[in-house]
Amino acid sequence: MRRPADNDIDGPIQRPVLDCLLRFDRCTEARYEAEHGRWRAAHLRHTIIFGVLLYLLHDISTYLLLPDHYWIIVLMTVFVIVPCSLAVAYAMARVSSGLREMLALGAILTATALPVFMLYYSNAPHSTHMNTEVILCIVFANMVMALRFRHALVYSCLVLIWAISAVLMKQGVDPELKVALCFQFTSVCLLTTYSNYLFERRRCRDYRVSLEARMRAETAETSERQFQEMSKTDALTGLPNRRFLDERLAEWFSDGRPAAVMMVDIDHFKLFNDTLGHPAGDECLRLIANAFRSAFSEPDLFCARFGGEEFIVAIRDADELQARRLANAVVRSIEALGIAHPGRSDGVEVVTVSVGVALKSSAEPVSQNEVLSQADEALYQAKRRGRNRFVMRSEVTDPRIAANS
Ligand code: GH3
Ligand code: MG
Ligand code: MG
Repeated sequence: MRRPADNDIDGPIQRPVLDCLLRFDRCTEARYEAEHGRWRAAHLRHTIIFGVLLYLLHDISTYLLLPDHYWIIVLMTVFVIVPCSLAVAYAMARVSSGLREMLALGAILTATALPVFMLYYSNAPHSTHMNTEVILCIVFANMVMALRFRHALVYSCLVLIWAISAVLMKQGVDPELKVALCFQFTSVCLLTTYSNYLFERRRCRDYRVSLEARMRAETAETSERQFQEMSKTDALTGLPNRRFLDERLAEWFSDGRPAAVMMVDIDHFKLFNDTLGHPAGDECLRLIANAFRSAFSEPDLFCARFGGEEFIVAIRDADELQARRLANAVVRSIEALGIAHPGRSDGVEVVTVSVGVALKSSAEPVSQNEVLSQADEALYQAKRRGRNRFVMRSEVTDPRIAANS
């Protein structure tokens, strides 16, 4: 299996795949390692140190069983097994996950090779009792260290071949005892490998279940977010809709910061539809919305579709001069789009907008509906004064006249 890369766990959780050797797919493996690698390294480090202590303890029983070649055991333990095992224990948290598992496998194979070899090599009368040392190593590797299943499989097969070969080649042992020892090794390998499989399968399945639960939660969260976004987006133009506008303005009007609200209305849009058709009208709305979207999408400056061919542009912390500049920019930028409007009879040949601007000052409290209707009154004046312009609410001399005209 390819070594997982760091960026494999970026992005959404993917459905985990587990093969018959209990290996996860690359992405899940990387995620598992990122979440559990530290604990696995600590587990291996602790069990290896524990194993070294046990090994030293067993040197006493080996001394009683193999007095003829005891020095081999001492030399190998002191100069090979102990330093190598401690070096491997030290490396556990400092190497990649693949190398870590391979080192653990290598260490326990080396530690097992010694008693297997002594079982074969020693002529001491009790040397066949070295089978217990070998069995302890097998139990330790498959159940205490809990090698990854694929490694446990390799380990058990190798050790079984070594142990059976050692027994069969050993001189001066009853054939019945040889057969019995071979059966013992076989059954302990089967038992511990199966036990390792059950343990590993539980580990992988538990992780897969937890990952799938997280995946479902992630999907639900994404759908919820998408739904929330959709419910606040105008389907035709993709701009924020009336719901978004109401929420945002309610937020802005809940504090004392000043704001400017502009009601933007397309001039003679009914004529546009009548001349070019409704689909062309829709396209025109989209073009205007795109122009607004690219120009006004900051936290304190936004544009929303109010309804029909009307939009709202709102800006926070703006004084009158800034509001005037922005309103002028809105009017000029739409005119500059140059969308042909062949139906107009007022001499203007492109689509234009009129804008009414109302201000919310920081001094006097005012509701958002009041400011919206003030902007509407100013818009009315802009229409009366010839369209393709903006009018400030403060310039509307008599709103009643405006409203009744
Ligand atoms: P004024 O300059 O006074 O605003 O004139 P107007 O024709 O723009 O205003 P009026 O209110 O008479 O007409 C608005 C038109 O906008 C009528 C309606 O068909 C059109 N309209 C509203 N919503 C949509 C839409 O989603 N798509 C299209 N194509 N047209 C729309
Ligand atoms: Mg209108
Ligand atoms: Mg209009």
